Amino acid sequence: MRRHSMTNYAEFHRRSIEDRDGFWTEQACLVDWHEPFTQVCDYSEPPFAKWFAGGKTNLCHNAVDRHLKDRPDQNALIFVSTETGIEQTYSFRELHAEVQRMAAILLSLGVKQGDRVLIYMPMIAEACFAMLACARIGAIHSVVFGGFASHSLASRIDDAQPVAIISADAGMRGGKVVPYKHLLDEAVSLSTHKPAKVLMVNRGLAEFSRTAGRDEDYASLREQHLDTVVPCAWVDSTHPSYILYTSGTTGKPKGVQRDTGGYAVALAASMRHIYMGQPGGTFFSTSDIGWVVGHSYIIYGPLINGMATIMYEGLPTRPDAGVWWSLVEKYKVNVMFSAPTAARVLKKQDPAYLTKYDLSSLQALFLAGEPLDEPTATWMSDAIHKPVIDNYWQTETGWPIMAVCNGIEPAATKFGSPGKAVYGFDVRLIDETTGAEITEPNQKGVIAVEGPLPPGCLQTVWGDDARYVKTYWSSIHGRTMYSTFDWGVKDADGYFYILGRTDDVINVAGHRLGTREIEESISSHPAVAEVAVVGVADALKGQVAVAFAVLKDSGSAASPADALKLEGSIMKLVDDQLGAVARPARVRFVSVLPKTRSGKLLRRAIQAVCEGRDPGDLTTMEDPGALQQVKDVITA
Ligand code: AMP
Repeated sequence: MRRHSMTNYAEFHRRSIEDRDGFWTEQACLVDWHEPFTQVCDYSEPPFAKWFAGGKTNLCHNAVDRHLKDRPDQNALIFVSTETGIEQTYSFRELHAEVQRMAAILLSLGVKQGDRVLIYMPMIAEACFAMLACARIGAIHSVVFGGFASHSLASRIDDAQPVAIISADAGMRGGKVVPYKHLLDEAVSLSTHKPAKVLMVNRGLAEFSRTAGRDEDYASLREQHLDTVVPCAWVDSTHPSYILYTSGTTGKPKGVQRDTGGYAVALAASMRHIYMGQPGGTFFSTSDIGWVVGHSYIIYGPLINGMATIMYEGLPTRPDAGVWWSLVEKYKVNVMFSAPTAARVLKKQDPAYLTKYDLSSLQALFLAGEPLDEPTATWMSDAIHKPVIDNYWQTETGWPIMAVCNGIEPAATKFGSPGKAVYGFDVRLIDETTGAEITEPNQKGVIAVEGPLPPGCLQTVWGDDARYVKTYWSSIHGRTMYSTFDWGVKDADGYFYILGRTDDVINVAGHRLGTREIEESISSHPAVAEVAVVGVADALKGQVAVAFAVLKDSGSAASPADALKLEGSIMKLVDDQLGAVARPARVRFVSVLPKTRSGKLLRRAIQAVCEGRDPGDLTTMEDPGALQQVKDVITA
């Protein structure tokens, strides 16, 4: 293997594009192959890329089994819940045993290779066992974030059609028990597809009802399989490892489908070149397994790289704002990964908490998921005296599109920029109207990527190849290019700056939400005739959702007290259907929504008004008074 420390980054990136096969053949050495691949990238049917075609491997083998030789007794999984007070470590040997038990249970429940298993769980060790067990037997997992409620869950059940669901009685947040099982039961009653089995991990936190013949108890089945050996299923490199739903511009969530071999290689390479985690070290990502960061950098990435990974259930500020840093000290964390929102939360606390603990093991703090503002980045790096490194990516890509690849060549961080195009990504800025490439520095364009996408990115939208092509590869005028749906600019040094989404997707505290989904939920409220939801800038969360609703009977919000009551009931409806993460910060009532004469909602104009900006060209607007109403209700 080439010594990358000798390499200049521009050359490294150039080679990844111009000598794609040679480049990725080298990176592929970072993982184990049961059978070697015969073709590095089969791009005979663009934009579908088949990475490492002909090869056979297994994600669980690469994350767990292959480390048994060199590091059996090293920590692999460190589970910490400041909610329940439980802290437990699992060595690679112990993790191997637990994953086999879970895999044996899944097989006993009838789960076969290629079957989907939906995982609706809080941040507990069993969720990690469940994901790895699926990978082990070649089942396709679909983790649904525990903060989503029954309607969101039901639409994912119908799309993924899982044969089994793994869940738990409850999660905990801020000292409160958050029961899961009744939401799951409600989701299954709403969905058309019914899973044959539901495997319940009972934490003893909340009572729940059981459906005879369907619901199974994890603890008792585990007892039956304490010593069962379940070998890894050697699957094709292109075999789907998981589906992860993400929001788009329609109400129907998209199932991002990931492969096996390409994902393993992409993660292994990123651990080395971007995050610079050393095998034997400890990685702490504060995300949740329900999001892509949780898949890539709580579970698979660190473990594939032979690192211990911390799974944390709790808040960053409980019992106090020093809790994460106490874990850095205790477990000698080398690499930490979080979101700008978390940094902004900590910024409001006493900075003494950040210097109370020994952070000498920590190399860097990586932040991603939403724009990292310069004051927060500066504050954070001054507080912990460590590099704070932004990186930009999406659920779709599974790993960074833009970063500073310090593992190749140490480079300066420019605050406000997530860095340069990452190797493998042929990033271009495109003029939205003409489709022409923008080559001048500091000019705004849509961030797009020339195909093929590198290994590890989405293969397709689950069950809907046409949607994959139409959504991602057809939006750039006259070209077949992958659109990120983000605006950006590139400076003369090749550093990018992200300027926000080109579509109706918003980003609340690093979580992506589709405004259409929230609108659909609010529209189902009996009092609501029509609604528009927009993302509005927020100092803490980056953005919050604000809803503007037209009522069927305007009298139902005539008095301030009635309006408040109605707002509360609409928020509760969103909580119940989609989950608290999607709840709008405010619901305002208007008699008409700003629309074009052809009836299209002017969401961007509404958003501009909410943020005190110029709403731009309004010549196509149907009723100019509508925007004035928006202005009036937000300033009221
Ligand atoms: P998700 O798929 O939920 O991870 O959301 C991806 C979107 O989050 C991107 O398309 C961007 O709009 C935004 N995003 C992610 N990382 C960054 C970053 N480092 N800076 C700015 N925006 C980001």
